Amino acid sequence: MDIAFNAEELAFRDDVREFLATKLPREIQERTRIAPSYVPSDYTRRWQNILYRQGWGAPNWPVDLGGTGWNAMQKYIYDAEYQAADCPRQSPFGISMVGPVICAFGTDAQKEHHLGPIIRGEKQWCQGYSEPGSGSDLASLVTRAIPDGDDYVVNGSKIWTSHAHHADWIFCLVRTNTEVKKQEGISFLLMDMTTPGITVKPIISMDGHHYLNEVFFDDVHVPISNRIGEENKGWTYAKFLLGHERTGIAGVGKSKRKVERLKQIAGIERADGGSVLEKDSFRSRLSEAEVALQAVEFTQLRILAQERAGKPPGPEASTLKIGGTQVEQSLNELMIEAIGHYAAPYPADELDPERNEPPIGPDYTIGLMQERLLRRAATIYGGSNEIQRGIIAKAVLEM
Ligand SMILES: Cc1cc2nc3c(=O)[nH]c(=O)nc-3n(C[C@H](O)[C@H](O)[C@H](O)COP(=O)(O)OP(=O)(O)OC[C@H]3O[C@@H](n4cnc5c(N)ncnc54)[C@H](O)[C@@H]3O)c2cc1C
Repeated sequence: MDIAFNAEELAFRDDVREFLATKLPREIQERTRIAPSYVPSDYTRRWQNILYRQGWGAPNWPVDLGGTGWNAMQKYIYDAEYQAADCPRQSPFGISMVGPVICAFGTDAQKEHHLGPIIRGEKQWCQGYSEPGSGSDLASLVTRAIPDGDDYVVNGSKIWTSHAHHADWIFCLVRTNTEVKKQEGISFLLMDMTTPGITVKPIISMDGHHYLNEVFFDDVHVPISNRIGEENKGWTYAKFLLGHERTGIAGVGKSKRKVERLKQIAGIERADGGSVLEKDSFRSRLSEAEVALQAVEFTQLRILAQERAGKPPGPEASTLKIGGTQVEQSLNELMIEAIGHYAAPYPADELDPERNEPPIGPDYTIGLMQERLLRRAATIYGGSNEIQRGIIAKAVLEM
């Protein structure tokens, strides 16, 4: 495996580093450093527009539609630098999910209408896949779309829809045929969130924040021209979407950043007459997490080295989501242990810029408990880790 960076790759890394150091607005960087999961959407949109103007708005899209044409190693370098510089995560639903689907399967009119507003950060999207009875068994979904002239009439509901309350558009899987095998009766529809009959209701998660929603569809008329590709072929486009972001899913850069911060905080906080960082039990668990993180990073690099050598990624790709999310959760738990009793009284509004009460603990404790509680879900969303293990057992180990 050849994973050393060559001179060209090092020069590319320096260019990326320089751009991020000079163009990322300080207030956006600071907010991302403190609370990476709670960056306000106006910050994300502003940053997306800066990336767009640099030509880096959607690195994974085809070059003629706004992509960068970077190879796998350049994308890896970019992601690592991006996360190390405390840049906010790009909204995944437009750039990483529906954007590539529209690029690959959309009509010219759909490309014309949607891709520009996504890459410029003007329109936000959300993902309407899960339903109350259909999560892991997604293909059992029942939200119905029945043709009526030039429209579909949609009835049903979606759940756990992240950011639906500030999304302009939703991409949905809907049932268009009930007579066939469940995967063969699904279509992929794009809906304007302002269409009459769509109602969004909040779900407050255990971190105390509004991030998740239920979305209800009551006789919603959606033009048939908003369907992606063929009717009843939605499962194919959905699988393409899920498989699209493979190497970024492990969040290696973000976890590395977290390790640095954890060491700083645990070096300040006191326990048993010394710092938390000096405690044997803490050090040993931190080392375990660091080793696991290194293993995930090397797995990711192995995949990239294979791609660079023109070979398809092997079975190791399937382990990235499991390994990456487990490391993230271990680090969040250690962070809570490091700040000890300051984690207990966390007020849900402590991240609110309008809050005028002083923080209960030192500034560096702000947002840590929220992050821990929110990311408890990392092993559930994007296909739960149990389901990923099932896929590995079946597709890789042939059990
Ligand atoms: C924070 C968060 C954000 C989300 N955002 C979105 C979003 O934006 N859009 C969207 O469409 N969805 C979203 N989801 C939904 C997410 O995709 C589902 O929660 C996930 O697919 C699991 O489905 P479920 O909740 O119905 O659990 P179930 O499918 O009911 O599973 C319950 C438990 O049983 C286990 N299980 C189920 N089947 C098997 C099996 N065959 N083998 C072994 N174990 C199994 C699961 O791993 C899980 O532990 C989000 C979820 C969360 C928590």
